[in-house]
Amino acid sequence: MNFEENYPILKSTDLVQLTEDFGSPLYVYHAETIKRQYERLTKAFSSVSLKVKYACKALTNIQVLKYIHGLGAGLDVVSIEEALIGIKAGFSPKEILFTPNGVAFEEIKQAVELGLVINIDNISVLEQFGHEYGNRIPCCIRLNPHIAAGGNSHIQTGHIDSKFGISVHQLRHVLRIVNSNKMKVNGLHIHTGSEILDSSVFLRVAGLMFEEANQFPDLEFIDFGSGFKVAYKEGDYTTDIEELASEFTSLFTNFCKEYGRNLELWFEPGKFLVSEAGVLLVQVNTVKQTMSTVFAGVNSGQNHLIRPMFYDAYHHIINISNPTGKQRLYTVVGYICETDTFGWDRKMAEVREGDILAILNAGAYGFSMSNNYNSRLRPAEVLIENGKARLVRRRETIEDLLGTQI
Ligand SMILES: *Cc1c(COP(=O)(O)O)cnc(C)c1O
Repeated sequence: MNFEENYPILKSTDLVQLTEDFGSPLYVYHAETIKRQYERLTKAFSSVSLKVKYACKALTNIQVLKYIHGLGAGLDVVSIEEALIGIKAGFSPKEILFTPNGVAFEEIKQAVELGLVINIDNISVLEQFGHEYGNRIPCCIRLNPHIAAGGNSHIQTGHIDSKFGISVHQLRHVLRIVNSNKMKVNGLHIHTGSEILDSSVFLRVAGLMFEEANQFPDLEFIDFGSGFKVAYKEGDYTTDIEELASEFTSLFTNFCKEYGRNLELWFEPGKFLVSEAGVLLVQVNTVKQTMSTVFAGVNSGQNHLIRPMFYDAYHHIINISNPTGKQRLYTVVGYICETDTFGWDRKMAEVREGDILAILNAGAYGFSMSNNYNSRLRPAEVLIENGKARLVRRRETIEDLLGTQI
């Protein structure tokens, strides 16, 4: 399949017109692409009791959350604030897994009061939880298997130096705490990293989890986190969901037989659901020929989409104002006074000042990681559903910046 065919948003909508209607820079999301991804996952795992917990830190717009709730997903949240937004979007607290890291015990108590499913990733928190709630409130435990997934060291969370999870080597200590406080452990959780390059890593992690799971008699689910990879450019390796599912479900089904009960299988995809659904539309302010390159300077920057600068991530860029223009080489840069590059040496249809560029895969970790550096305002967000575009977040104004200042 041609790379750009993966992005129905490019075909289904006149994106240049959207920037005339709503201004730029503009985040645009395509609901049906989210649905496509959700259904691909649920279909592949249809032979087991699958629950998809959308990792909403990827994109927390409340209208997007409502849409994802409508598809039948639950939520994975990493802060009490995300939980409150999720509840406001219509998720019931028991559909929400609270997976914080390094938070005060007070925040965990708040989560218990809200009725969230609690995921614990630290021995000391487990002890406090046991003392406070004993067998009255169940909890899930986040384990670190020390199996590193993926090639980008910025986003690995399962390796030895990771701050996430309780080491599988501390399991005896975990069991002591659980048993002495008569705690009810209703789930085991693992999230090894944002990129699973090959399903054999996943299967190794699964084997390890199943071994440990037998020591916890009250399980209702096992949560394998995320790591489903999507393509950011032509030829990128992506997770073969169907192949993974066919191998994985038979392992899981066998485990459930051995365990004596059917458990739910949980996943927490973030970028898999929303990455390809979103584009960031920016306008070219300046075209600048230097001795080494041609810069296309746009009315946005790392304050709106930080992934290229933060993770050295590749985001494909298309000149949608001049689709048939002659191919030329550009370095696309933002307007922030800081190294601020969206893409180096990009072959694009000839860029003219005023053109609109579409930056792809901006649905995940785009707006949600944006900020106001240089006192720049954050973009508006638009959701396209059934061919209709509607504003789901207005553009910020200077009053928004000044509103919290005294
Ligand atoms: C960020 C995160 C996810 C989602 O990761 P993606 O790579 O976006 O799919 C899932 N689970 C937890 C605990 C996370 O922190």
